[in-house]
Amino acid sequence: MAFIPEHCDIAVVGGGPSGALAALHFAAAGRNVVLIEARARATPPRDARALALSWGSRDALAAVGAWSDDLPSTPIDRVHVSRQGGWGRTVIDRADVQLPHLGLVVDYPQLVLGLERRLSEAGVTVLWQTRATGVRPLSGYSVLTLEDGGGERVLTCRLAVLAEGGALAAALPGMRRLQHDYHQSAVLAHLLAETPPAGVAYERFAARGPLALLPHDDGFMLVWTRAPDDAERLLTADDGEVIAELQQAIGSRIGRIVGISPRTAFPLKLSEASRIVAARTALIGNAAQTMHPVAAQGLNLGIRDAVALAAALADSTDPGDAAALAAYARARKRDSLAVVGFTHGLVALFDGPRHPLVDRAYGLGMAALDVVGPWRRRFARHLVFGVASGVRR
Ligand SMILES: Cc1cc2nc3c(=O)[nH]c(=O)nc-3n(C[C@H](O)[C@H](O)[C@H](O)COP(=O)(O)OP(=O)(O)OC[C@H]3O[C@@H](n4cnc5c(N)ncnc54)[C@H](O)[C@@H]3O)c2cc1C
Repeated sequence: MAFIPEHCDIAVVGGGPSGALAALHFAAAGRNVVLIEARARATPPRDARALALSWGSRDALAAVGAWSDDLPSTPIDRVHVSRQGGWGRTVIDRADVQLPHLGLVVDYPQLVLGLERRLSEAGVTVLWQTRATGVRPLSGYSVLTLEDGGGERVLTCRLAVLAEGGALAAALPGMRRLQHDYHQSAVLAHLLAETPPAGVAYERFAARGPLALLPHDDGFMLVWTRAPDDAERLLTADDGEVIAELQQAIGSRIGRIVGISPRTAFPLKLSEASRIVAARTALIGNAAQTMHPVAAQGLNLGIRDAVALAAALADSTDPGDAAALAAYARARKRDSLAVVGFTHGLVALFDGPRHPLVDRAYGLGMAALDVVGPWRRRFARHLVFGVASGVRR
């Protein structure tokens, strides 16, 4: 059973990538921080996700020593966006943003393990195998109820940061969540093709659901949005059948698909908090917004939440200061609205039959983005760095 302190400056609930990064930023700023994580130490989640992180996210991790070149990752230098059965396509290149890469693809468990190592080096107190079961904001501090197998304990803090996915925030006064079930699942698999990835990621709006192919080691990570029963079928169908369907959807751009791993599936939902701060409480990452993976933006947004919260608190003696929390909420509003709205719009656009005029407008939009350099460069910068608004008091 871990020793649980009675009080700290900042308690971060959830040691996923957003929470771990926030804890590292707070520790670097000299705060007394405690991170609370339900899973056990050195047991990364069994999770097939490979995440496309923008170069901006990589920089945010590197700023607190949480990005190491030892972390297995595959660079993305170009993103090729197209649609099945329609004209207009866009290619975004690293030259558009003048960075070494547009981003990097990293396995979720590897990223979490890398962050865990960094937390230990930085001396951050982590309460492993401890679950927060409640949060109660009072005027001078927040009270967290913790369960670690040895009974219930209480931890008070001047600021509680919720990075556990969103369930705890439901009890906060005035907090509501916008929920939308897409009735879709993401099917994930590693695949090998005749043409090696060479730094190219593909986003393909295929007839039976949008698919992303992320360069992943010697092949690609497939993220394919399908109806739930269709996803179930792909999990158990034989490899040849899945490859044939996939080949039809992606066409010839990666050559012949020569192998595919077993598949896993994630149900897809949008869940967005009506506000990301309450008295002595802030929400970051999936706790603030959980979104569809079609645009590969969820964690990129979570990382920018963590960085913005640390920046908003930088000059406050009291980390739960209401003005600092309000500055955090203001700083994140535009980026979150734009990315959640853009992602949800993409899903809606390609879900079900489209009016021919909408279809034509979409083709024109993609073609215009491809040929009008300044638009494409602006769009690429938003993808890599978010829709910036900065922290203002
Ligand atoms: C199929 C798929 C593909 C994706 N691809 C991409 C991509 O390419 N790029 C991208 O940017 N994003 C992507 N995402 C989104 C990304 O995975 C999430 O945005 C990201 O994992 C959120 O990180 P987080 O730290 O906020 O939450 P999580 O990763 O969910 O971590 C939450 C942590 O909190 C812990 N926890 C939960 N409850 C408690 C509690 N009560 N007490 C203590 N600890 C608790 C959990 O054990 C966990 O460690 C994808 C998502 C899916 C489903």
